[in-house]
Order: sequence, then C-alpha cells, then structure tokens
Amino acid sequence: MNEPRKLYVKSYGCQMNVYDSHRMADLMAPEGFVETGTADDADLIVLNTCNIREKAAEKVYSELGRVRQLKESAAGEGRRVTVAVAGCVAQAEGKEIIRRAPVVDLVVGPQSYHRLPDLLARSAHNERVVETEFPVEDKFGFLPLPSKAATRTRGVTAFVTVQEGCDKFCTFCVVPYTRGAEVSRPVEKILAEVTNLAESGVREVTLIGQNVNAYHGEDRDGRACTLGRLLERVAEIPGIARLRYTTSHPCDLDDDLIAAHRDLPQLAPQLHLPVQSGSDRILAAMNRRHTRSDYLRAIDRLRAARPDLAFTSDFIVGFPGESENDFDETLSLVDEIEYSGAYSFIYSQRPGTPGAAMSEQIPGNVKSERLQRLQAVINRNQAVFQERCIGLTFEVLMEKAGRRSGQLTGRSPYLQPVQVMAPEDMIGEMVPVRITGTIANSLFGTLAASPRIDAQSLATAGA
Ligand code: SAM
Ligand code: SF4
Repeated sequence: MNEPRKLYVKSYGCQMNVYDSHRMADLMAPEGFVETGTADDADLIVLNTCNIREKAAEKVYSELGRVRQLKESAAGEGRRVTVAVAGCVAQAEGKEIIRRAPVVDLVVGPQSYHRLPDLLARSAHNERVVETEFPVEDKFGFLPLPSKAATRTRGVTAFVTVQEGCDKFCTFCVVPYTRGAEVSRPVEKILAEVTNLAESGVREVTLIGQNVNAYHGEDRDGRACTLGRLLERVAEIPGIARLRYTTSHPCDLDDDLIAAHRDLPQLAPQLHLPVQSGSDRILAAMNRRHTRSDYLRAIDRLRAARPDLAFTSDFIVGFPGESENDFDETLSLVDEIEYSGAYSFIYSQRPGTPGAAMSEQIPGNVKSERLQRLQAVINRNQAVFQERCIGLTFEVLMEKAGRRSGQLTGRSPYLQPVQVMAPEDMIGEMVPVRITGTIANSLFGTLAASPRIDAQSLATAGA
C-alpha cells in the first residue's frame, strides 16, 4: 500500500477561506492525502490567499520565497513538492504568479478549486496550470462531505458556506471581482452538510457568505428560501445547539431574519452588521445603498425582536473625501450603537475598484491617526460591554483545553472566549457559566450550579 501523501493548507483572510481550505482537504483525502499542520514535510502545499487589503499579493510572494527553500531542500532528498496558490490573490493575479514565482506549479481561483485533483494530475506532467475561470458547473456539487474523523479533528464548531459572491459593488471592495456574482446553495444540500457535521460532534454552526443575508437558495418546492427560514430549518437538526451567521449587509435584513432572532433560541444573540462609516456622504460615495438612519432603524428593529442582541461591525477610515466631520460621525455612531466590538481598517486602494480612481485620497498619516482614535472609541465601548457581563450566567460551549491545566476554553453567546476550570469530558457541551472577570476580550468564569441563563439581563444590565 502507498504511504499517504501530506497536504498543508495555509489559510489567509476570512472564514470563507477557512471553509474552502477544509473543503480542499476533504477533496484531496480520497486522492490519498492526509492533512499536516506544517509545510516542512508536506508533499502538496496550498496557500489559500485573500486580497481584500493592500500588500496581500506581496505577502504571498514573500511566503513563496520560504516555500521555495522547502521545495529545494525536499528535491535534494529526492522528494517532489507541489505548490498551489488558491483563493482571491490567485484569482486577481492569475498568470502573473506563474511568471513571478517559478516555485508555483498551479494557480486556482476560489470558484474552481473543486478541479484541484485534475489540476494536480496535470502538474505532475510538469505542466504549470492556471485555472481562474468562473466555471459553469457548481463547485459545491463536486465537493465530498468531510469524513467524521476529519470533522472531529476540526472541533465542535464549524463554518458552512451557504452563499458566495456579491452583487453590491461597494466602491472600495474587490469581492465582486474575485468571488464573482452572488450565488446561493440549495437548502437540501446545506441541511445534508449540517446533519453530517452534527453527526460528527459539531454543536455550533456558523452559516457564512460574503453577503449571507442575501441568501435565496432553492428549497425543495423549487421556491427561494430566505436566510431566516433556512436558520429555522438548520435549528431543527438534532445536535445543533447554537447557530450564527456572517457577514450581513444592512440592506438585506428582512422580516424573516428579524423573526428568526425573536423565535430561535439556538440563534446566538450576537450579530456582525458592518456599517463601514457613520457619515451619509461617505456611505453614498461607498455605494453602501443605505443611510446612517436606515442602519439605526435596522438595529432598533433587531433590538425590539431580541433585546439582548449585541452588535459588532467593520469600519473603514480614510475613504477618499472623508472629512473630519464625516469621521466624527463615525465616532458618534460607535457610541450611539454601543458595539460589543468591531474591526476597523485603514482604507486601501484596490486596483480596479471605483474608489481607487477617486480624487481626494486621504494621506497615510491622517488615516493612521483616525484609525487610532476610532479604535480607542471601539475599545472603550467593548470594555463597557465586557464589564456588563460580570455576574451574569451564560451558556458556554466548551471547545478545547484552556491555557492552564484543568481549564477549558469555550465561547459565550457573544463570541467571547471564556476560560473555566472544568473537566475535559465537558468539551462539546453547553454549560452554564457564571462570569467572574474579564481581560481584554476574554471572560473568566466558574461552572454555575443552576442552569438559569441571564439572557435578557444583558440588555438592561448597563441601563
Ligand atoms: N460583505 C461584508 C460587508 O458588506 O460588509 C464584508 C466583506 S469584506 C471581506 C470584510 C471587510 O473588509 C469589509 O467589511 C470592510 O470593512 C473591509 N474592506 C473591504 N475592502 C476594503 C478596502 N479596500 N480597504 C479597507 N478595508 C476594506
Ligand atoms: Fe464587498 Fe461586502 Fe460591499 Fe459586497 S457588500 S462589495 S462583499 S463590502
């Protein structure tokens, strides 16, 4: 029998890439590949790249420099290493990667990675392959479900892509160009995938998509299903104790989704709803298709449905034309919403996007200074939220061994890591934990005797 070959996949960027990396590993398993955690002994190295912000391609080229050394030393021992670049940098750079990096054997875009076994076979004949078309076939139809053993090594939480691509064309963003037009997977396929995960011990599933709440996958009756109704169906799968979804666009929030937040106890009370800016002028220039007050109204509706819902967001500072006044409106929005956390980014000119060609680009020093001020406001709000958690009892999904011996790390409903002294056999269980302290975005707690959960109390704790 042949020795299994080793596959190392390095993921950059968002959860969509983490999901794709797992699916690539599942796809290569029947080809005789087992996953390894290091590139050192791998026979196939895949860099699953992201190019949402600047210097992404440069980072990949410098990583390829390190990979070249590995490949050369393996060749010295008579071992052939195949190197693939996948993901959005592969899509954007295409043949340029082959030209600039002789170490690369194949380049495959995010919509074509189901062809990996085929491409690999071609590269075995010393052909250097570039596959960045958007193929007509649906890649998901070609991806096998993971084995139970593979799922177990990935833990008790999992991502499931339900939607891909984007038709929104925000003027700063490359996603519509690299991931292509919006597509939703059929309901039955998603239910089968989640059932398989649940049967392998997964307790928490996050449904993901670049614009996940635009989901409109085909249901059994041939009609389009909304994300709200999909969540309802997924919540019925035995074993699934907690559900999340990300990333949402404020314009695609419909009544079904709001009802899901009201009606589904499994749906975690935490929502990532990126706003990018608090200024109507900048929102319009970004082509976000909503105003600040539209966004605030959406938050009000969600809070009315689920009072303990906490919000996180993404922000971009220094978009072309952003004045001090515009920026102040972003700062005031953070305080108005009282986010439990947020990601903030310096605007990065992405080639081919309308924003890159706009006049009034903001100087780097102004952007950096604004980022620091924004992060200070975000951190202040996050610290208030963390403090409000102290003394409450949360259901915590125990995920893995903690930092100290005897400790487990779990996640609160609000996605905060929670450290608790607890026996190892609690991994995979949802247990009530009384929160006793906080450091940065982590919480500390003790196992609570009673299963009473302070669900609504967070909404009023700080009031
Ligand atoms: N679809 C989501 C949405 O509508 O907000 C987000 C997708 S994007 C992968 C994740 C985040 O990257 C965005 O929310 C935005 O804040 C940030 N981002 C995208 N393009 C950027 C750019 N050119 N410069 C800085 N940040 C950017
Ligand atoms: Fe990019 Fe999100 Fe805008 Fe789509 S909605 S273009 S993914 S930021």
